[in-house]
Order: sequence, then structure tokens, then C-alpha cells
Amino acid sequence: MVLNNYSKQNPEIKAEPSNLAYILYTSGSTGVPKGVQIEHHSLYNLLLSVQKLPGLAKKDKLLAITTISFDISIAELFLPLITGAELVLTDSATTKDGSALLDIIKNEHITFIQATPVTFKIMLEAGWDGLLDMKVVCTGEPLPKDLAIKLTSRCTALYNMYGPTETTIFSTGKQIKATDELITIGKPVDNTLIYIVGDDGQQVPEGETGEIYIAGEGVARGYFKKPDLTAERFVADPFSGNAGDRMYRTGDLGKVLPDGDIQCFGRIDSQVKIRGYRIELSEIEFILSQQKNIKEAVVLSLKNRAGDLRLVAYVVQTSSKTETAATEIQGWKAALKNSLPIFMVPNDFVLLDALPLTSNGKIDRNALPNPEINIDTTLSSYVAPRTKLEKMIADIWSQCLKVENIGINDTFFDLGGHSLTAVQVITRIKNETGKRIRFANFFEYPTVEKIAAFLENDKKEPVKSLVAIKPEGTKVPLYIVHGNGSTAFKFMNFAYQLDTDQPVFCLQAIGIDGYVEPLDNIKDIAASYVSEVIAHNPHGPYSLAGYSFGGIIAFEMAQQLRTKGKTVTMLAMCEGYVIDNYQLEPGLYKTLHRIYTRGRKFLFGFYLLTSEPKRTVRFKINTLKAYINELAGKEVMKEDKLDLDLEFIDKVAEIHHKAVSKYRLKPYDGTVYVFRAAKRSFFIDDFVNLGWIPYARSVKVLDIDGEHMSIFEPPWNKKFARLLQQTLDECNKGLVYESAAGYQNIPVAVL
Ligand code: AMP
Repeated sequence: MVLNNYSKQNPEIKAEPSNLAYILYTSGSTGVPKGVQIEHHSLYNLLLSVQKLPGLAKKDKLLAITTISFDISIAELFLPLITGAELVLTDSATTKDGSALLDIIKNEHITFIQATPVTFKIMLEAGWDGLLDMKVVCTGEPLPKDLAIKLTSRCTALYNMYGPTETTIFSTGKQIKATDELITIGKPVDNTLIYIVGDDGQQVPEGETGEIYIAGEGVARGYFKKPDLTAERFVADPFSGNAGDRMYRTGDLGKVLPDGDIQCFGRIDSQVKIRGYRIELSEIEFILSQQKNIKEAVVLSLKNRAGDLRLVAYVVQTSSKTETAATEIQGWKAALKNSLPIFMVPNDFVLLDALPLTSNGKIDRNALPNPEINIDTTLSSYVAPRTKLEKMIADIWSQCLKVENIGINDTFFDLGGHSLTAVQVITRIKNETGKRIRFANFFEYPTVEKIAAFLENDKKEPVKSLVAIKPEGTKVPLYIVHGNGSTAFKFMNFAYQLDTDQPVFCLQAIGIDGYVEPLDNIKDIAASYVSEVIAHNPHGPYSLAGYSFGGIIAFEMAQQLRTKGKTVTMLAMCEGYVIDNYQLEPGLYKTLHRIYTRGRKFLFGFYLLTSEPKRTVRFKINTLKAYINELAGKEVMKEDKLDLDLEFIDKVAEIHHKAVSKYRLKPYDGTVYVFRAAKRSFFIDDFVNLGWIPYARSVKVLDIDGEHMSIFEPPWNKKFARLLQQTLDECNKGLVYESAAGYQNIPVAVL
């Protein structure tokens, strides 16, 4: 229906700006409907702003396709009316039919359309491949990049508009170009302010992530007859400086980019914590939707019968199915492992013909089937344990990892295994079989099937330090030396953030699993690692890195390798630092220096407490908690009469600490790459170069995210991995790891 004949007379206006323009009911994530009360001034402000961006002119013809229960319909209906543009209405059957929409757009010469992503997807599926002389506004949900790329080549201009109902339809927006690296939600609409607020209620610095709060003209009066909920979501604006100003807590996460654009990361409640890791479900969905044969994907975290959270991916495939479902899922899992840390790879996959939608055209997450109920639609590569030994190992893993139904092909890491669970598994296997596996065995025999075969074989090989974390690839391998008291598990996720063809090996401390005595001299430790590295990779070249204390060992290894005539292409310190006092000859000066350093340490502690009280206290509490957990763990183990506990780790840490205090550094004729964490929670002598200047020909400092303890963990490990890979690539330019295939067959770290 086209409305052409309208009165030329302006109607008499009785409404005041602060009168209600409309109440729109929205269910939100809780599912309980609440009426959002929008006043005239808010709507008027929005319409005037939208007239400019995305922009609507008299000559335009807008196709209205949104149900009136969704607030964007209000912009759709009133914007043409205040502009004098033409409005074309459709029926609801047409809005769900891609080809009918394309027909009406072409026949009516539509120049403006707004909708959620799903509408544009169905239009593309219906064969929209040519350019239409039309502005496209995508809103209501995150605009996927692949959709944005398709749309930019098919319309005159594409806009991404963002905003909750509670702040009047749209609060930010921008034009999206085909060349945009990131899809952002742009800048605030007129008379609107966006604040990014941290957990402490203060605005976070530019570039940091926090909750998006919206203030200004658009903020609604509140929820109709829901004063408590209103008070919870609409709060006083402490940043504007004007008493009485209010702002709305969106529940969305975002950050401000250097150009002032806002990046929205989705709902805070789409952030879940699984096994201690904060996981952004939308990030997994994004990577998943890029995979072969995936049209759409949604990821949920659901509880299994044991009450543990696990990730479930709901996937709609493209029509061209080429593989069997199980093979396809295996392929997706493998591809995800290259882009995401292992704990972010979904455990279960459910294949669907289509994703359920709400009446507003948004994905209805609450209507997704629970795979435990609809077990026949779940596809996984589950193979039940076959032998007594496999059953026993699967049961032990189940108890330690708190994951049910472990199949023989599931890997320890995929199930969330880490060093502490490994200690428990080692102990229980020892109790049941009398055989003791090692940390390294989890890397070499990561599945129930493999570890069972290994135990059955009863193969005895010398204890080694070298562990293959990620042996595949043609780039010059990286050898990374453990931190004090840490195992190869520390680097597992990080290694998978590096390039797919970047091999990564770790040197674990001798004695970490209690087989042999730890070495107590840095030169001896380095010599032992060097001999293993050379046995593994006789010709080199060698790229070395060391974490924290491991940096000192890597430094000594580099010296020793060079003395043997080997080429060291890169020497990296991952937060590895020099303690000045250890480099001094014993005597009065050393003692005075120690007293002086203690004073500086005390002052630094005081500075941390005053400048960053929250973080400092949190750090101290976490350290204390870790200590208490460790003690509690020891108690549990004692009660269980388990003879393997964490003491080996403590013992190694203590001996290594003494070793480093006796080690004197000699200048290294090369560059030391120092990867320096953004935050510091404890004192070091040199905050800038971490003490390396006197001991290297040159020092190159690279700033990474996070804090000393967290640099290998998400989300901080991303930037670090990128910078380390760049450094590796620069240092190893033109070099290829020739015997890559051979390396995979060399047994490393086998008991
Ligand atoms: P509603 O109140 O139903 O309009 O939903 C508002 C929520 O939808 C926002 O808080 C965001 O989580 C999401 N949303 C709306 N538009 C966008 C957009 N362009 N990009 C990302 N998320 C959006």
C-alpha cells in the first residue's frame, strides 16, 4: 500500500516534549516483558539525527518491513513522515520471503530499507546478487563481517545502527565500507553520550573493554510500573556533571577505538566462565561462521548432568554438504583449534536446518534445543572405552576433569585439562596401576586410547625435558623454557595462538615430576637442555624464548649454542628479567644494595596500593588463594594417601631460585627481545628494559598485554602471540624447517 494523498495542513500539536510518545514492550534476556516509556523529545531527537545519518531525503522511498512490536518500526514509520519521503508498507508474509522482498524492492524502486541481519541473509539466499540503488540499514543484532562484505557490493551504502529500546531505537551508528577491518557500531547519534564503564563504576581508559552505558536525549523515562527495575537499569550519570542526568546500563560490552568508533562485543551475559577462563561466546560464533560449509552458528554454554558448563555449537550448514556430518565436525574442530584457545572449542555440535527466530527477527537463543534432550541431533566423535584399562583411564579423567562420558579419542586438553588436573590424574593412575606417567606424556599421548596403549606397552625411555607442544609446521621451531615451577601446560593455549605452521617445543624442568633430582646450577640446566635440543634438531638454527626465570636459562642456552658454533636466530624474554643484586660480588656493597632494593620494593608496594588499590588487593588475594588451594590440594592428597603431590614442583622451584641467585650473566653478542607485560604487580630493578641492557649487544622491548602471571592466557595472549610470531618471522626470514616431517617422529619426553 502506498500513501500518496495526505493533508497539507499541519495538525495542531498538543504534546509536550516530556509527554510519552510510546510504550514499547520488550522481553529482554530475562523473558519477562517490560514496557519502555519513551518521551517525545527522545523520539524527535532520534528522528532528526537519523535524517542526517543514515540520512533520508524527500525523494526517498522506504520499505517498511518491521513488526510494530520492535522499536525500529517507529523510525521506519515516522522518519519518512517527518521527511516527506514515501513509505511503502508490506504484509508479514512478504517480510519473510526473500524473493518477494526483492521483487517489491525492484518494482517499487525502493531506496531505503532497514532490517536485522536475518532479512538480508534471506534476500541474499533468494538470489540478490546485483547492485540495487538503495541504502541498507542493518540493526538489532551484530552485523557479521561476511554479510557486510556481501551487502556493500549490492547497495549504494550500508549502515550499522546500534541501540537498545531503552535509549530510543538507535544510539550509535556508522556507514560500513567494504574495506573496513572491523565492524564497529560507530559514534553516538546526536545529543547522545556513550560511556565505557569498568567493574569499579568508573570510565575505563580508551581502548579498554567495559560495559556500554548510554546517556543523553534518548534515555527512556523508565519501565512502566516497574520502579525497581528502572532504578537498577537507569542510574544517575556521575560523568556529565549535571545533577539529575541519568544513563542506561546496556548490558553490552564495548570499547572505544582510537578513531572514536565504538566496538561492541555483545551481551555481557554472553560472556561465560568455563574452568576459570572468561569466554566470549560471540567470538567463537564469529570464527565458527567463517568455516567451510557453515551458514550460521550460535554457541551456548550449557550445564551437563554433573552441573559443569560445556560449550554447545548450533550450526546451520550451507546446502552444499560434501562430507559426512562427523567428518565435517572434526574438520571444524580442527580449524577452530587454529584460531582459538582449546577451551573455546565447543564440545558438542548440533546440526539444525534453521535457527529459531523471535518475532523481531533476532535469533531466539532460548528456543535452541538442549542436546541432552534431543540427543539424536547431536553429533560427536564419541567412541566408548573398549578395554579395562581404557575404561579405568576414562573414569579417572572423568573424576578429575568433572566431565562425563569421556570417549577414547577425546584429548585431555580439549576437555579442559591443566597442570593441576594432570597431577591428580598422574596420582590416580599410579594408585590404580602402579605405573607413573609424566607431565610430558599428556602431550605425547593426549587421548585415553593413546595413554592406555602407552601404559600397556610399558616402554622405558630416558627422562627428558623436551616436550612437543605443537610439533607440526615448516617454520623454524621455537624452543620455550619453562618458568620457575611451571610445566609445559602453561604454553599450551599460547602455542595455538601462533601460526599454524609454527612448531613449538617446551623445555620442562628436570625433576618436575619427581623422577630425578633437579639440577641446581643454571649452566648445567642449560647444558642439559642444549644437548636435548641439539639431539632433536642437530643443525638448527635455534629460536629460543624463556618465561620469567626461564629467560635466564634461555640466555645461557643461547651462549652455549653459540660456543658450539650453532646459530641462534632469536632470543626472547617472556617477562624474563635480571635481578641486579644477584650479579654483584658478595660483600658489603651487595648487602647495602640489598637493603636499598628492599626499600625501593617497599615503596613500590606502597605505590601500587595507592595507585591501583583494587588490582593490587585482588593480586594479593589471588596469590593467597592459590597458596591456600595448593595447601588444600596437598591435604586432599594426603587424606587419599596419594604419594605424588605438588612437592616436586615446590622443590624444583626452590632449587632453581637458588641456582639463579648464583648465576652471573656474561654479555651476549646479539639482540635480546624483551616482551614486557603492561601491568606490574611486583617490584623489579628495571621496569623499562627488565635489566637486560648491560648483558646484550642490543635490547628490543615489545609491549604486550596483561600482567606477569597472565601473559600466556587469554585474552592477553593474542597480542603477545602476534608480536612473538612477527619477531620469529623477522629473525628467521628465508629459513625453512627442513626436517619438519622427521621431527614429528622423534620421541621426546617419554618415560
Ligand atoms: P533491543 O532493545 O531489542 O533493540 O535490543 C538491543 C540490543 O541488541 C543491544 O543492547 C545489543 O545487544 C543488540 N544490538 C542492537 N543493535 C546492534 C548492532 N548494530 N550491533 C550489535 N548489537 C546490536
